Amino acid sequence: MKICVLPGDGIGQEIVGQALRVLDKVGDKFGNTFETTEALIGGCAIDAEGVPLPADTVAKCKDSDAVLLGAVGGPKWDTIDPAIRPEKGLLGIRKELGLFVNLRPANLFKQLSDACYLRPDIVARGLDVIVVRELTGGIYFGEPRFDGVKDGERFGYNTMAYHEYEIRRIAKIAFEVARKRTGRVCSVDKANVLDVSRVWREIVIDEHKNYPDIALSHMYVDNAAMQLVRDPSQFDVIVTGNLFGDILSDEAAAITGSIGMLPSASLGESNPGLYEPIHGSAPDIAGQDKANPLATILSLSMMLRHSFDMDEQAECIDLAVEKTLEQGYRTGDIMQDGCKAVGCIGMTESVLANL
Ligand code: NAD
Repeated sequence: MKICVLPGDGIGQEIVGQALRVLDKVGDKFGNTFETTEALIGGCAIDAEGVPLPADTVAKCKDSDAVLLGAVGGPKWDTIDPAIRPEKGLLGIRKELGLFVNLRPANLFKQLSDACYLRPDIVARGLDVIVVRELTGGIYFGEPRFDGVKDGERFGYNTMAYHEYEIRRIAKIAFEVARKRTGRVCSVDKANVLDVSRVWREIVIDEHKNYPDIALSHMYVDNAAMQLVRDPSQFDVIVTGNLFGDILSDEAAAITGSIGMLPSASLGESNPGLYEPIHGSAPDIAGQDKANPLATILSLSMMLRHSFDMDEQAECIDLAVEKTLEQGYRTGDIMQDGCKAVGCIGMTESVLANL
């Protein structure tokens, strides 16, 4: 199995480096061979090649079975030409690989329930949601778009547009994901106001005819944002468009209180999937052995599960992470009274021992 590794900027190098140690150990333990190749993306690519996504990186990714990404960006590149900002590398690779779906699990490890921002009685009902976000359409890519001057004053607009095929394929994935969980999908839209959302809802309902075993519900996005805080246990799988998904997946993640713990997967039809932690490059702690590597290690677990059908190996990583938390090891971002402080390397050592 060929994996293209894109460490990126800031803590990217550290967390990806540690995750690869876990991959090696899994390979040894299960007799799997993983071949890795590294490439540049984001700020480091701008420094080396003048662009955030060099052609060589795209070629290496396309030639792989899966891609593991750290994070991109940092203050060094905040003021450069917006056309070549590090984030353009991320949007670019998603587009190049045709990654139209973003799977964003937000679950709470019971050992970290103190970190959760919700009341204990609400958390006790459960927090295990996965947001299935459409990634290559909607308002982020819709044309026409405009940023300029009209009638002597600043004026701008974007277009939220969805084709039936885009809605149908993401709905299909949401129903498939739900089948492996508790079988409930909530489709989030703004069908009371937006025409595009009425099309979205109609197609989701139509696609649902192929999944009679799945319970489908619908919710307006403003209500969904509220319900996620009031009672997240009512959700299993949330499927939604690019903009609403961007916001709701971050909200769900933030509720858990542990940004350093959450992985994500971006998948396409047949191209390699891309796996990355949801957090950024954390320039404030970069190079200090303070970063929590668990979100990246759990992204690796998602890769084994979704790209390589290695459920047993993935489960093994998940359990090793859980045991590490059980043993009280904590990086600074998830530190609790009475726990043992470790750095990025120390946390990984413990996961390796538990593997
Ligand atoms: P961030 O996620 O990098 O950091 C937010 C806070 O969380 C910081 O205090 C950071 O120290 C902490 N944090 C994040 N990940 C951590 C980890 N693994 N372990 C311990 N602490 C962790 O978000 P930001 O500060 O808004 O952005 C910093 C840079 O990252 C910006 O340039 C931004 O554009 C970029 N960014 C990149 C991605 C990505 O690559 N997918 C996502 C978000 C932000």
